[in-house]
Amino acid sequence: MSLVSAKNVVKKYGKMKALAGIDLDLEKGKQYALQGASGSGKSTLLYIIGGLERSDEGEVIINVDDKKLNLNRMNDEELAHYRNSTVGFVFQFHFLLPSMNCLQNILLPSKIGGRYSKEIESRAKELAKLLGVEHCLKKFPFQLSGGEQQRINIIRALSVKPKLLLCDEPTGNLDTENSEKVTALLKELASEFDATMILVTHDPQVASKISHSIHIRDGLVCNMP
Ligand code: ADP
Ligand code: MG
Repeated sequence: MSLVSAKNVVKKYGKMKALAGIDLDLEKGKQYALQGASGSGKSTLLYIIGGLERSDEGEVIINVDDKKLNLNRMNDEELAHYRNSTVGFVFQFHFLLPSMNCLQNILLPSKIGGRYSKEIESRAKELAKLLGVEHCLKKFPFQLSGGEQQRINIIRALSVKPKLLLCDEPTGNLDTENSEKVTALLKELASEFDATMILVTHDPQVASKISHSIHIRDGLVCNMP
């Protein structure tokens, strides 16, 4: 059963097609490395699947909790709810808000989405213990190293138990050792949470660690996982 089913997805910026007709099925609980040259449309595809952007043509269907969500037919409020309840994002740059401490940053998506609960807070604290950043929760992002910030970022993405984990070059600015650690961690957590994961990477070493791969070129998929 597929969690994400994209058909003929087109995204234009002016006359340029960033996505030129993407067909893609992603199965529940599987992990995919998304590869392609710079500018091939990887981030755009991730943003559309994650409900951060809308496609101009085609459709994206998400099968979640026995419901079929058609992202193209959702209004802004429904799309925001989808993002906050179903999707976890991990970006290369951490996007932690400098004026909030790390725990407040982690809890922000669930608070915005009206889904905050003590359970989410205790899961976040457990994950912080597991990832060795418990001591960072009361600190502000600028007081942390790059690797620690990325782990906080990962906890924020996972604390809502996302069905879909979207990672855009999460290891892009890490050295080899930390890059391997973060990849292993994302794989492990995604499988523990039974989340479907897409991880965008330039690095063949990172991609080789992920069981399925998708290549895109000029806004089109050139192989199927
Ligand atoms: P990748 O992540 O594979 O490097 P992107 O999805 O970021 O590629 O970009 C695909 C193409 O769309 C590129 O040519 C890029 O310049 C263009 N593009 C992406 N976002 C925008 C935007 N907001 N406005 C205009 N062009 C964009
Ligand atoms: Mg990109």
